[in-house]
Amino acid sequence: MKNRYFQKEIETESREKLEENQLKDLQNTIDRALTTGFYRKKLNDAGITSGKDLKKLSDISGVPITQKDELRSLYPEGLKAVAPEEIIRLHTSSGTTGIPTVIYHNRNDIQSWAELMARSMVAAGAGPEDVFQNMTGYGLFTGGLGMHYGAEFLGMTVIPTGSGNSSRQLRLMNDFRTTIVHATPSYLLHLYDQLEESEYELDDLALKKAFLGAEPYSESTRKKLEALWGIDVYNSYGLSEMNGPGVSFECEYKNGMHTWEDAFLLETLDPENHQPVPEGESGELVFTTLKREATPLLRYRTRDISRIIPGVCECGRVHRRIDRISGRTDDMLIINGVNVFPSQIEAVLMKIPEVGTNYQIHLAKDGALDRITVKVEIYSKLFTGDLGQLEEIRSRIRSRLHASIIIHPRVELHEPGSLPVAQGKAVRVVDERGGDS
Ligand code: AMP
Ligand code: ZN
Repeated sequence: MKNRYFQKEIETESREKLEENQLKDLQNTIDRALTTGFYRKKLNDAGITSGKDLKKLSDISGVPITQKDELRSLYPEGLKAVAPEEIIRLHTSSGTTGIPTVIYHNRNDIQSWAELMARSMVAAGAGPEDVFQNMTGYGLFTGGLGMHYGAEFLGMTVIPTGSGNSSRQLRLMNDFRTTIVHATPSYLLHLYDQLEESEYELDDLALKKAFLGAEPYSESTRKKLEALWGIDVYNSYGLSEMNGPGVSFECEYKNGMHTWEDAFLLETLDPENHQPVPEGESGELVFTTLKREATPLLRYRTRDISRIIPGVCECGRVHRRIDRISGRTDDMLIINGVNVFPSQIEAVLMKIPEVGTNYQIHLAKDGALDRITVKVEIYSKLFTGDLGQLEEIRSRIRSRLHASIIIHPRVELHEPGSLPVAQGKAVRVVDERGGDS
């Protein structure tokens, strides 16, 4: 059923009204931010002492940018603009046991997040009649609880399976007539292979739609998944610093992701000089929370590259659409939906005495899933030792890496000088996954 809305007034109000509210909420957010030591200093240094100092939306350009590293440096205290007893939940960014960013939520924050999620899913055609199977991790990862609360609030029947365990996923899909799944694109590809080997037939299932996000994927991956499963696939974008999912979501026209501008002030900036790029051109997405009470964030650099799609969508929603994420302005890798920085891998390797100086991170597809192989040079005298010793080093590297980056890499040991040495900047990451799987 097209053109169904969850919060029709907010979704279809005039641009003028939306911007009027954005300015009010921006001023309130600045005032809230000013109650934290971190933002008080940053804003005061920029000559801002009150939300009212911003007279129009474009005055946001005078507000300092917030970087991920700054938030990391505040861990674990983070930013609290409300009394501690008001806080009911926290989430952290994915992928690392190192220092993550922490975001706190009070009751209103959890409720508005659920509303954004419900609104997103209704835009993609979901309704209370649907059975929703949530195949992403519950816990600190925001995809699990974020989608879960939204789906319940919307009134779907939720099956909170969490990630993995493909045979159980398929059984539940079959037994409870699941109509919508939420997963990463790589997992849904993988699950199709599992389906083919299982006792179930595609025709037995009731699946109609999938909401896919948490990692980049191409338009051809969407088409492939739609053809394989015989479903509609909708792109979902978010990041833990902006709650998680529910920042931008495709409507049934599948023509870019509506960014909920009543909740997030959206800018696309040149990553070098932080100046706005003309609408329609690619830039780094920068968001300011407009509604969040516990942890307000001002002009947060996502490092994600996209563009605002000019024009209005046929669905009638006023909230502007962003294009598929085309890349990042840093070297963060997303491996099966988990964020990994090459520097984390390096930090682990360099603490292991047997490891030499050269290493390479190799990414490839293993069926539908990403496979990471860490190739390390170790000192040649070790190769003259016994195989057991080599195996011990290999498994020690593997388990230390697992402890730091959560995922399980393959580890290959190489003799010194055997891995390629780059002429200029070292090429540490070889990514052969390709955009189209
Ligand atoms: P996290 O904060 O750990 O949830 O990771 C958020 C990051 O995942 C974003 O900054 C993006 O780089 C990536 N991401 C999330 N959703 C998508 C999507 N639909 N397409 C591409 N990348 C995505
Ligand atoms: Zn639309």
